[in-house]
Amino acid sequence: MQAVNLKSFKQKIGRNKTAFKRFLNRVNKNPPKNIDELTPKLEKEVWKEVDCLSCANCCKTMTPTYTPADIKRISAHFGQTPKQFKDQWLKFDKKEGDWQNKIQPCQFLNLKTNMCSIYEIRPTDCSGFPYLSIKKITDYMHVHKQNIEYCPATYKMVEKMQKLLSV
Ligand code: SF4
Ligand code: SF4
Repeated sequence: MQAVNLKSFKQKIGRNKTAFKRFLNRVNKNPPKNIDELTPKLEKEVWKEVDCLSCANCCKTMTPTYTPADIKRISAHFGQTPKQFKDQWLKFDKKEGDWQNKIQPCQFLNLKTNMCSIYEIRPTDCSGFPYLSIKKITDYMHVHKQNIEYCPATYKMVEKMQKLLSV
């Protein structure tokens, strides 16, 4: 497994973002027959190569969404009511209809270790991120197109797909 070099990741995404997004658009329009068998295999390869603890870019630059169950569970952990927790840490995004962090990096990220201080009870959104093969790729294409700019694991998976598929 390799440590993530965020500086070089940002340079690579700067160079390849447009081409990768066009590739994803083509896959979305004409999904290859084997794509949904291929993505779980590629995901396994990706996690052998990418070390999230050397990255934490998602926790540093994006926000998770919090479900009512997440808010109830995490606020109880801190001895707060859901309202107190929301007032302290969250804002409601009217456009998306979601509760999100007010600040970035996430208040629960330990910036020295890149570890989540509420790992066991973290939001469901965090535990599923970056959703590489959780659903059919065409159902999550909008997510991958957004995440590719922030998540080296998503980038690596799309890079692998691009090498294998002539789309
Ligand atoms: S709750 Fe934990 S996993 Fe989720 S964004 Fe914050 S630090 Fe990262
Ligand atoms: S999920 Fe992606 S952005 Fe988050 S730590 Fe892992 S590689 Fe980095």
